[in-house]
Amino acid sequence: MSMADEAREAVTPLATVEDRVEDSALRPRCLDDVIGQTRVREQLALVLQAARGRGRTPDHVLLSGPPGLGKTTLAMIIAAEMGTTLRITSGPALQHAGDLAAILSGVAEGEVLFVDEVHRMARAAEEMLYLAMEDFRVDVIVGKGPGATAIPLEIPPFTMVGATTRAGLLPGPLRDRFGFTAQLDFYTDDELAAIVHRSARLLTIDLRTAGASEIASRSRGTPRIANRLLRRVRDFSEVRASGVVDAAVARAALELYEVDEQGLDRLDRSVLDALCRRFGGGPVGLGTLAVAVGEERETVEEVAEPFLVRAGLLARTPRGRVATAGTWRHLGLTPPQTALNDPVGLGGLWDNDAAGGSSPTSG
Ligand code: ADP
Repeated sequence: MSMADEAREAVTPLATVEDRVEDSALRPRCLDDVIGQTRVREQLALVLQAARGRGRTPDHVLLSGPPGLGKTTLAMIIAAEMGTTLRITSGPALQHAGDLAAILSGVAEGEVLFVDEVHRMARAAEEMLYLAMEDFRVDVIVGKGPGATAIPLEIPPFTMVGATTRAGLLPGPLRDRFGFTAQLDFYTDDELAAIVHRSARLLTIDLRTAGASEIASRSRGTPRIANRLLRRVRDFSEVRASGVVDAAVARAALELYEVDEQGLDRLDRSVLDALCRRFGGGPVGLGTLAVAVGEERETVEEVAEPFLVRAGLLARTPRGRVATAGTWRHLGLTPPQTALNDPVGLGGLWDNDAAGGSSPTSG
């Protein structure tokens, strides 16, 4: 792997191969172990407790939010708290109704079925899922053409947990079938510091308070990134320092990996750079911006943008993405007067829905 790839991997919120291997040791196993997301945790605890009290399977749960915030972890916890097993699949794996039928026909009573990236399921599978979620049955079509018959297949009650980074893309009928919907939010620096302290204990890393703060503040509000940066800092401390992770060691390691003080990486910086230097601060369409930085539109939209918007370094408007005064300053440039007077470029008209839609909020 090149140095650039390593730097890129340091702060991607998407799971890398190393994450998949090492995350399992760090995942909280029960609701009490979960740090942050207080409201979601309380609500979920209630849903599960009520279901246990009634001796029923809990309502279907939809978890939405950017990658790396704990959706898979919560799905595992739901199964663990209900004392049942978790079956895992994902939207892209469900391209035909038959793919889903095969999974549903193997579901045992009370099991939890986790569908990651549920917004990427094929239409035909989605329709089968409606029926399964509502009536606990599927219609298996046998034969073709006029002779085709639908054979109803009963499935035992189960709990579906869907995860999506793009709740706005879910069709209404699917969204409506989830009894409980939770929107996961980015974590505060204090919560991230608590998460890396917990991880350091599990990995027996000598992490000092100031070292934890340094990692937390560069983790883009995302536990997956915090844990990954902790591992990078550990490598550095073992090879170049005495094994103790204090502020100086953390800072030196993160500089080596080109993670800046706000946790921005190369992709983020190139997006901001293109926005200001090539497009004069916008407005510019997302597709154009993605081409300018040589990335897929989805990568910019789902990986870089949510954090940049939250950090006040990028704004979505009905006419496109625009730089804020903070963007210019972050690049060490002087903001033009327009960015100061009208930070979003359109008299304060924001359009921050997850899909980055195009209808102006009238007012
Ligand atoms: P998602 O499914 O949303 O992409 P994951 O559930 O895979 O995210 O979480 C990524 C990693 O972050 C997990 O392996 C876990 O170690 C850590 N993590 C997530 N949420 C928390 C939390 N609330 N407390 C502690 N660690 C967490």
